[in-house]
Amino acid sequence: MRLIQRAFALLAFLSVVACGGAQKASSVSPSPSGSPGASAIDVVTTFSTLNSFVNGVGGKYVRSTNIVPVGASPETFQPTPRSIAVLNGAQLVVENGTGIDAWVDRMVRGADVPRSRVLVITDGMPVVGGNPHLWMDPVLAKTYVAKILAALVRIDPAHASAFKSNARAYDAKLDALTAWIRTKIAAIPPAKRQLIVFHDAWPYFAKRFGIHIVGSLVPAPGQEPNPRRLAQLVTLARKLHVRAVFAEPEYSAKLAHAFAGSADIKVVTDLYDDSIGHRAVVSDYISMMRYNTEQLVHALQ
Ligand SMILES: [Zn+2]
Repeated sequence: MRLIQRAFALLAFLSVVACGGAQKASSVSPSPSGSPGASAIDVVTTFSTLNSFVNGVGGKYVRSTNIVPVGASPETFQPTPRSIAVLNGAQLVVENGTGIDAWVDRMVRGADVPRSRVLVITDGMPVVGGNPHLWMDPVLAKTYVAKILAALVRIDPAHASAFKSNARAYDAKLDALTAWIRTKIAAIPPAKRQLIVFHDAWPYFAKRFGIHIVGSLVPAPGQEPNPRRLAQLVTLARKLHVRAVFAEPEYSAKLAHAFAGSADIKVVTDLYDDSIGHRAVVSDYISMMRYNTEQLVHALQ
């Protein structure tokens, strides 16, 4: 046990160093929102997953821009003067809230944007234990859509019927997604519906679809893993016959690989949660959730 702890202490250090180094990107990535007209509403989202909902509801009447680049983490993001400049002229700033993108509040204060233009989506939502990853449950994602719809209608009432129609269509996609995920998860034997994740991004998804999260390697990206906790998690993984540990491409995979080696389980390093991906199969929220589900089913079956 002591040997494992020492090994993890070293890996933990390496992992934190790697995580910090990987998150310096702060360029602004325009969203794939079609071809908005000259009178389109300028919307700025903090991270790319939220951008999917804005594009879904706003369609061609919205010009959306995303602050955290695709493939980077909102949890370790450091705003730069360039990312702050993006806020100038924003008619709506969409923030997830519950801490994950709190840095945008400082940016808003530094830019010429009234606070009344900021939509904090998780305000009033059923947040559990301060965990901000509510969008990972496609049923809760409908609340994201509803709040964005209300904000866009308020800013541009002339296009209210188009926004409402887009929102209805997006809700239908979310319903279909939820039903599809349920069917896919049902194919995993109940005893195998358990996972270990890199960071604690999956509780809302897990609760919705009856999956047990055995634990996470770090509480949040950028935080140092606890060697004793990791050693306990290795023991638990073996005892419960957990099939795999899952991590995301925007974070260092070193710790996940080391953990998988110690626990003798599979490692999957391309689940998407805090960011969509560059590839077409993970280029928006719906496709990202489908891809995640396929990965989970493949590794857990
Ligand atoms: Zn996260």
